[in-house]
Amino acid sequence: MMLEEARTFAGREHRLYLGGRWVDGPEGKTLETHDPSTGLHLSKVPAAGSSELDSAVRAARQAVDGGEWSRLTPADRQKVIWRLGDLMVEHADELAALESLDTGKPLRDSRFFDVLNAASSFHYCAGWATKLNGETIGVSRPGEWHAYTVHEPVGVVAAIVPWNAPLMIASAKVAPALAAGCSVVLKPAEETPLTALRLAELSLEAGLPAGALNVLTGTGPELGDAMVRHPGIDKVAFTGSTEVGRHIVRQAADSFKRVSLELGGKSPVIVLSDADLDRATPLVAQGIFANTGQACNAGSRLFAESAVFDRVVEGVAEYAAQLRVGQAFSEETQMGPLISQVQLDRVAGYVDIGLSEGADIRVGGKVLERDGYFIEPTVLSGTRTEMRVAREEIFGPVLCAMSVTGDDLDDIVAEANATNYGLGASVWTRDLGKAHRIARRLKAGTVRINGGGLDPALPFGGYKESGWGRESGLQGVQEYTELKSVMISLGEV
Ligand code: NAD
Repeated sequence: MMLEEARTFAGREHRLYLGGRWVDGPEGKTLETHDPSTGLHLSKVPAAGSSELDSAVRAARQAVDGGEWSRLTPADRQKVIWRLGDLMVEHADELAALESLDTGKPLRDSRFFDVLNAASSFHYCAGWATKLNGETIGVSRPGEWHAYTVHEPVGVVAAIVPWNAPLMIASAKVAPALAAGCSVVLKPAEETPLTALRLAELSLEAGLPAGALNVLTGTGPELGDAMVRHPGIDKVAFTGSTEVGRHIVRQAADSFKRVSLELGGKSPVIVLSDADLDRATPLVAQGIFANTGQACNAGSRLFAESAVFDRVVEGVAEYAAQLRVGQAFSEETQMGPLISQVQLDRVAGYVDIGLSEGADIRVGGKVLERDGYFIEPTVLSGTRTEMRVAREEIFGPVLCAMSVTGDDLDDIVAEANATNYGLGASVWTRDLGKAHRIARRLKAGTVRINGGGLDPALPFGGYKESGWGRESGLQGVQEYTELKSVMISLGEV
């Protein structure tokens, strides 16, 4: 499906997917989305409320407590999840077109990054469905005992996801939850519902039983909040802002619902003077400009040793100046728009804040006078860790560059750790001893040395205010399980 077909899909009358059926949303309650590349109307989807949520939770409960999903053997669950991954690859062009329409991402990025990563979550997690084994435990009580542990599905999962990588983030929750034997009620972000709706169709085609996956579109404050408070939901898996994450934790406290959180970041990039700068510089640039900087683990704070600071900053600025900013479907485009006018105002506002705090603009900084929500890739220098631009998550293509001296690695690490966040960090150096020492000291869930990327086998998540729990890897699947210990007396001694 290319642009026209994606537009047709976007423009059709959308419904809610629950209990394996498509149903109407509440009368007169809809959400409108816009194409970030043009600012024009894109689609209208139902804004589900509490009654649709009740139905979805009932269907999900049925699937997990007594329904078809929980009764499947692990091998059969594995096959269905794998098949869904295959269908995503088969429909990769179409999913990419929908994602680019909704988010404004360059089509190539959606096709070869977002969709393939999303499919790989299903392929990777499929294998865990047959391998979630407990242990036999040697207990030391008097008598003879047989003791073991079992990983049981946590139950019904509310998956609440943001707009910056809609399909990838939804898949990073749905795939492990299904592998663990849970059922899911998925709520995409208000701005980007399309790929979640298409995923629901593909799940039906893959043979996922009714109720195992439900997709409800709706607002965060209404539907999202109701999901977090719903007594029939056992776990909330959330990706989004730290502010909403904090609210979710408070709401979930009454019932002690399980909560996992993938939140914001302000990830440091450390470039030591012995680094391979030809390799490092373009990757430092990509680390902040990819997805127009709307990435939780964007490398948004550069700490370069003073001996190489100017070279790195000039290299990144040159990269930014040459980056072709444009519409998602133009073949030329290397960086797309921001998601919305709200986000554009927010990012432009931060550039102004940086200037008022004393930062210098090395490149970019301007909103582009055209339809859609475009801003230039921007590098600020003269920033210091106490400035708001260097502390707060901008979620846009704005790099704060800081010069550091390498006399004491601990000082560099202290600067890098001077943030409430702790999601990612990158280190560039040829000295592997230094690299490992820095990696040990960084307070971040992921440390990349001389490059790196996402992998479904590699746990991902945050220290500090970047979240709770991990996604991906075995830990990512275990987040959707409860651990039960069973002990059996083998008779009196
Ligand atoms: P957001 O927190 O505003 O919204 C995320 C989701 O939460 C949306 O679906 C929204 O409808 C819902 N929501 C909003 N209010 C809610 C409420 N009161 N109760 C329940 N749900 C509610 O975030 P955003 O602006 O869409 O996304 C950007 C943020 O997401 C950034 O902070 C970014 O760092 C973070 N993010 C984190 C990761 C990660 O893996 N750590 C990945 C991507 C994005």
